[in-house]
Amino acid sequence: MKVSTRDGGDVFADGEFIPFALPDLGEEEAAAVSRVIGSGWITSGREMKAFEEEFSSFIGGGVSTVAVNSATAGLHLALEAIGVGPGDEVIVPTWTFTATAEVVRYLGATPVLVDVDDDSLNMSIEFVSRCVTDRTKAVIPVHFAGLAVDIPSLREALGGADVRIIEDAAHALPSIGSDGLVGACNTSDAAVFSFYATKTMTTGEGGMIATRDVDLAERARVMRLHGIDRPAFDRYTSTAPAWRYDVVAPGFKYNMTDAAAAMGRVQLGRLQEMADRRSAIADYYTEHLRDLPLVLPLEPGDGNVHAWHLYVVRRRPECPRSRDEIVDALARAGVGASVHYIPLHQHSYWQTFAPSASSRPFPVAESASHEAFSIPIYSAMSDAQVTRVAESLHQVLM
Ligand SMILES: *Cc1c(COP(=O)(O)O)cnc(C)c1O
Repeated sequence: MKVSTRDGGDVFADGEFIPFALPDLGEEEAAAVSRVIGSGWITSGREMKAFEEEFSSFIGGGVSTVAVNSATAGLHLALEAIGVGPGDEVIVPTWTFTATAEVVRYLGATPVLVDVDDDSLNMSIEFVSRCVTDRTKAVIPVHFAGLAVDIPSLREALGGADVRIIEDAAHALPSIGSDGLVGACNTSDAAVFSFYATKTMTTGEGGMIATRDVDLAERARVMRLHGIDRPAFDRYTSTAPAWRYDVVAPGFKYNMTDAAAAMGRVQLGRLQEMADRRSAIADYYTEHLRDLPLVLPLEPGDGNVHAWHLYVVRRRPECPRSRDEIVDALARAGVGASVHYIPLHQHSYWQTFAPSASSRPFPVAESASHEAFSIPIYSAMSDAQVTRVAESLHQVLM
């Protein structure tokens, strides 16, 4: 059985095309999943609990964690737990994946889109403070590409307003910013991580809520599994009869399986090694792409850490080719580039359901949407592949 993706994997066995992203999985993850299959308990149970405990100790400071089957589910649960509902407004950057805003709609609330800062493409804190109304219930900062948003400054900009901060930390594992390690929730109410296949660690599909708010954690635990007050594993392993439970709310089906959690435990153990590899690739790109007519990503400040989930560059005005031409030419050269993001305000759904999408100007996101593209950066890349990405970009831009 060949399971390793570390040398390109079976899906891309020819080794010619460099995919935009690949999970970094091997025999250890396969053995962990196999152990779960053999155990007779494959849905949420001991592995999920162990994964939550290990994730809490990784973040430190006694933070509570709630494992779920996606970051989208985690964001939904966090907003539900703080009571977001119809009539409420939630401030979201336009420069993000649609999941950040769709969870606001799940609860019948209205996303208010804001522009981003030109250097980081992170939510503009200045714009956020201008968008706060008496209906604002929460803000969802996104640590774009893995560069941490300045959460203490965001909190300060919100002034005394009773506005909660739920971090979309899908790119930020591990990232360190002015609020410490993302997930520590020193200033925010919760942070939600993603273990989707392309993220910095993966469980196939999966996510984790980190919070210091015990009520939020408790509500999310109940709502991730049908609103039942006692999870199945506790029912089947405790002395009280397994059939007895109470439904306290119309909950969701968002629990993480033990098979996924077992994969996650191995990935978490390898997280630093994988992060070091991505960081080395970022350093290589930064050194070898500096002569090109591109704006390279903002480096983290002193003492901060960038997770380098994405390496996003922007073409400069003098660049001879358009963004779309560059992405096409890279594909012809065998390099899978991508675009993060088509900003939300350009999508038809959000033009109707995020009223700010049509009424507000987004000058930074507008121009970045014609300039930005992402090149492959993942721990399973070989040195030869990293070199080839940089060389291809030189050829394309010559
Ligand atoms: C990937 C991603 C999500 C959603 O994560 P899932 O685990 O796939 O639900 C949310 N927000 C951002 C910014 C993402 O990149």
